[in-house]
Amino acid sequence: MSTTLPPIPVTMVGSWPRSREVLKAQKLKRQGRMSAEEFERVADEAVLEVLRMQEEAGVDIVTDGEQRRDGFFSFIAEKLEGVKLMTLAEMLDIIEDKAGFELILQTLDVPAFSISNATCVGRISRRTPLAAGEVAFLKRHTRKPVKVPLPGPYLVTRAMWVKEASRAAYASKEELGDDVVRIMREELRDLIEAGADFIQFDEPVLTELVFTQGQVRTFMCAALAARKDPAEELEFAVDLMRRVLDGIDGVRIGLHICRGNWSQDESTLLRGSYQPLKQYLDRMPVRQFVLEYATERAGDLVPLSAPELGLGVVNPRTESIESTDEVKRSLERALRVYSPERLFANPDCGFATFSNRPVNSGAIALAKMRVIAEAVREFR
Ligand SMILES: [Zn+2]
Repeated sequence: MSTTLPPIPVTMVGSWPRSREVLKAQKLKRQGRMSAEEFERVADEAVLEVLRMQEEAGVDIVTDGEQRRDGFFSFIAEKLEGVKLMTLAEMLDIIEDKAGFELILQTLDVPAFSISNATCVGRISRRTPLAAGEVAFLKRHTRKPVKVPLPGPYLVTRAMWVKEASRAAYASKEELGDDVVRIMREELRDLIEAGADFIQFDEPVLTELVFTQGQVRTFMCAALAARKDPAEELEFAVDLMRRVLDGIDGVRIGLHICRGNWSQDESTLLRGSYQPLKQYLDRMPVRQFVLEYATERAGDLVPLSAPELGLGVVNPRTESIESTDEVKRSLERALRVYSPERLFANPDCGFATFSNRPVNSGAIALAKMRVIAEAVREFR
């Protein structure tokens, strides 16, 4: 672990809105009209700009804003052997329970044909590291500690497992999970070697399991079409995380869980307290849970047994900027439960989980990060 952190460190959750240039470059690369090297050059510039803005705002632990990724999860498709990015239309073609799957699509708040799912179509292995290159670049350009988000092993396994496409390579999702664990452990070692200070797994689908009572209806994990027993799925998630982290040392491990971040319309996003997840989260050996608490949909603060809490103090989806007083009140409430050395401050989620669907502009993201840093400074 590198530099000592100030009390209540300010961090990002991950993504930053992409510039028009980056979005254009992503499109050209997807269409095969821009080389990987050329794309990296555009992305390098964008990362440096996002880094500059975080430093200007007073962020203590920086990310690269996920500028190289098209989405927080789908980006792994091109890094992995045995994985294919499939549009929902393509998935609908192969899925046996078409009626059930279509029902899910109807409740979506985004056009189904614009979403792609990284689907397992063969034995999986890493063609290149998933994110170690991102970390190495950041480390060359900042002296601040670096956080890197990674899709969590449960999300990766559940979303990639599409029975009709995957069963030739794996007999079950559990068997696929074994390979996901192996890949994640390889990646953790590479990230630590590249100098990552904080590795954050993203497992947004855990909330779907408890708030939809097994009737999974949102798009975050398209493959969750079939009815599932939430308790069994949560045990599976705990087991995967424990195996990924077994014996891993020398880096801060976080787990981010939110209720969806694809729309500014809060009514389409899930609602409910973290309480039903507590018994599972308390068995995951992570150092920090990075949780949303700025949105009232998250309910009251639920104390967890992990050493640290990354407290969500601003809503990344609203255009109005929270006041420093609001942020300070949130910190005060959390400090009744967590001592200052256990508390971090962050937004509820990223500002652009999906590159084509940012939930805010860069200017608003900057203003919100500034307010967090200012409130924490007054607090210190
Ligand atoms: Zn999130």
